[in-house]
Amino acid sequence: MPVDIEFGPAPAQFEAELRLFVFHQGRVLINEEGSGALLPSLRAGMARMLFPGEQIYLGCLDGQHCCAVSLEDDTDPPQGFFPEELRRLIHLLPQGDFMLASRAMQLFAWRRDHRFCSRCGAVTMAHNRDMAMVCPACQYTQYPRITPCIITLVTKGDEILLAHGARFPEGLFSCLAGFMEPGEDAEHAVRREVREETGLRVGKLRYHGSQSWPFPHSLMLAFHADYEGGDLVPDGVEIIEAGWFSRDNLPRVPPPGSISRSLIDDWIQRGGV
Ligand SMILES: [Zn+2]
Repeated sequence: MPVDIEFGPAPAQFEAELRLFVFHQGRVLINEEGSGALLPSLRAGMARMLFPGEQIYLGCLDGQHCCAVSLEDDTDPPQGFFPEELRRLIHLLPQGDFMLASRAMQLFAWRRDHRFCSRCGAVTMAHNRDMAMVCPACQYTQYPRITPCIITLVTKGDEILLAHGARFPEGLFSCLAGFMEPGEDAEHAVRREVREETGLRVGKLRYHGSQSWPFPHSLMLAFHADYEGGDLVPDGVEIIEAGWFSRDNLPRVPPPGSISRSLIDDWIQRGGV
């Protein structure tokens, strides 16, 4: 079901409760209580008192206004809250919450990394209307960076290709993925990445969906791909080990909530073919 999110504009003032995405040293603050909502909902005044820091209006999720706050690094989180890695929350947060947390994390990182003009070095200013940083000296405008990546599940008969990447946790296998290069479309990137990482050629592609992946600013474009030819030879650099797996002998795969898992689940739901 589509997520109901309106990005803006921010209302002049908030009266109802806000959903808060509070970041502290790159982590998200969640309620300490195990039960109930993970993210705090507070009235605006209380939110400002409890969580002082740089604020960004994120949008409206299911009719509720959402804001992000970045606490100063040397401030301790208030009692009752503790910081958690967003990665670890992916299968605990509803999809809309994860999307807004992802948006917040990327916007804070972008602001932090674009305080100076990359063309002339002058101090930049926030654009008065757009989400952009503008250089007052040379007018160069820097927008939030979003980096497209492809991710693909290759099928051959009733088996899928899963790989263990060099930076993966022990024993975890996933779909093939990689950054797109300037000038290529997503379909070309799928064929190139599969060939470079495994030596295989793929035929027909089928678009599956996309996901914002804020580690640090990727947009994952997911495809199913049919095996066409070639022998499986992992490149030994990005991919340490790879193999064909059937439904009955799947290795440890990524957690629910990730698009890699969604590709695998989609294949299983279609009968593993
Ligand atoms: Zn400049």
